[in-house]
Amino acid sequence: MARDLHSHAEPERVRVRHVELDLDLDFDVRAASGTAELRLERTDPAAPLVLDAAGLEIEAVRAADGAPRDFTLGEEVAALGAPLRVALAPDDTSVTIAYRAAGSGALQWLAPEQTAGGEHPFLFSQGQAILTRTWIPLQDSPGVRVTYGATLRCPAGFTPVMSAEQLGEDGDGAFRFRMPQAIPPYLIALACGELAFRSFSERSGVWAEPSVVDAAHDELRDTEDMIRAAEGLFGAYRWGRYDVLVLPPAFPFGGMENPRLTFATPTILAGDRSLVSLVAHELAHSWSGNLVTNATWRDFWLNEGFTVYFEQRIMEEVFGRERSAMEQVLARRALEREMADLAPEDQVLHVDLEGRAPEEGCTLVPYEKGALFLRRLEELFGRGRFDRFLAGWFDGHAFESVTTAEFVAYLRRELLDGSPEVAANLDLEAWLSEPGLPADAPVATSDALDRVDAARAAFLAGDGGVETGAWTTQEWLHFVEGVPADAGAAALDKLDAAFGFTASGNAEILCAWLRLAIRARYAAADARVESFLFEVGRLKFLRPLYAALLELDAARARELYARARPRYHAVSTSALDRLLG
Ligand SMILES: [Zn+2]
Repeated sequence: MARDLHSHAEPERVRVRHVELDLDLDFDVRAASGTAELRLERTDPAAPLVLDAAGLEIEAVRAADGAPRDFTLGEEVAALGAPLRVALAPDDTSVTIAYRAAGSGALQWLAPEQTAGGEHPFLFSQGQAILTRTWIPLQDSPGVRVTYGATLRCPAGFTPVMSAEQLGEDGDGAFRFRMPQAIPPYLIALACGELAFRSFSERSGVWAEPSVVDAAHDELRDTEDMIRAAEGLFGAYRWGRYDVLVLPPAFPFGGMENPRLTFATPTILAGDRSLVSLVAHELAHSWSGNLVTNATWRDFWLNEGFTVYFEQRIMEEVFGRERSAMEQVLARRALEREMADLAPEDQVLHVDLEGRAPEEGCTLVPYEKGALFLRRLEELFGRGRFDRFLAGWFDGHAFESVTTAEFVAYLRRELLDGSPEVAANLDLEAWLSEPGLPADAPVATSDALDRVDAARAAFLAGDGGVETGAWTTQEWLHFVEGVPADAGAAALDKLDAAFGFTASGNAEILCAWLRLAIRARYAAADARVESFLFEVGRLKFLRPLYAALLELDAARARELYARARPRYHAVSTSALDRLLG
């Protein structure tokens, strides 16, 4: 097993196998407090238990019989937190840690005005990559899988949910949860607020605030079809239920694949199901990421590249080839745009993160270059053979954490070694270890998007109206992204008058438009830029808009950010702090 640079734990000596939480969620002081019982596997009987803890107040550590155990909290290391060392007695098979998490980077406590309902506060956690240690003391490495249970207490009228089986409330005001399958710690997740639920099927449904849940149910109604399509491709769904939780807009990601309960941004609710590839993506993680997990964060492409590829296959099954092709064309362009600004070492799939935070490897490279690599393997070996290969990978490594080296060994054994003539067309080294895109990277094409190119050119040339008919979000995105930044404010004014982009309720189209508006100095969109930056916490939208602002007017960018920053999750602020200095 590769050493995880981003954890203090020494699991080869003492390993946590199960975490049992008992926590009070206090919205008044914005703190979670209580106990975590850790059940242990001891390989080296003389070794202490070493945990990760960041910003936690550790009150006591006790053995199973209640006797205290000595512990020391070491120096905080930037981004990693501190090692928490517990001296174990010879017979200890568990310890219970009493602690308090206030100011946790994982937990975001939203004020009522940051929710759709506007009346009650809301709490959610985001553990990936290494933030679980800011609300639970444990071995916070994706290579240390744990089962977990939890008892949560929260104010009356609130509903807590977790990435686990919901066992309900026993009449004592405490809600109980159980995750019997071993998962990496970054997937332990909770949310709590005023929530309602609607079913899609026996095993699937959606949670959201009451005023959002019907729209969410309507938008995501293809979820059961997606689960069936995914199972048809790569084997049974192994987690029991698959529910989606639609969060308030402060959520920093598009989605987070918390097992049994995907967390999602409300910005996917476009009203026409055009952004539901995000659900296909998070669902696909039920295989790639949750079932078979990157052992360290430099193997992140094993989570994300596989998932993007799998997502595209689900979208093709449920919505057809043309929709999937359009999404691939847009993804490739986004990758090339981002890669143009990345240092060569950050363009490498198997990225080196020595001395760096895991987030620094969280670019589009592991996602889109990773997916292109798998697409290339599919091209070379044929879909039938490649699908059996992938199904075998998921099945053979289920509930394991794996490294890039393990994948390469499997790839050689199952595909390359048996077909040397085909394998000769693949430059494995270039794909895994070199910057840029290899020359044999597959290129997706879409006739529909080619027609959009022609329509845009005609409009900008002043040839009158454009036949947009029933354009999808993907076509509109392509249309906007293709407008050159030097088109000038007058051209943008004409576009806005014709298509109403500044007033768009579709967050993807709006973000693309606002980015263009900033770069083209189209002042009529300034107010919308500002309100959007205050409404939304999703890093995918914040980063390009702040970057565009920064280029044009650094003082305004920093002034806006200083005001909006308290509304963002730590995942977003740590990335934006780096960007904005
Ligand atoms: Zn993902």
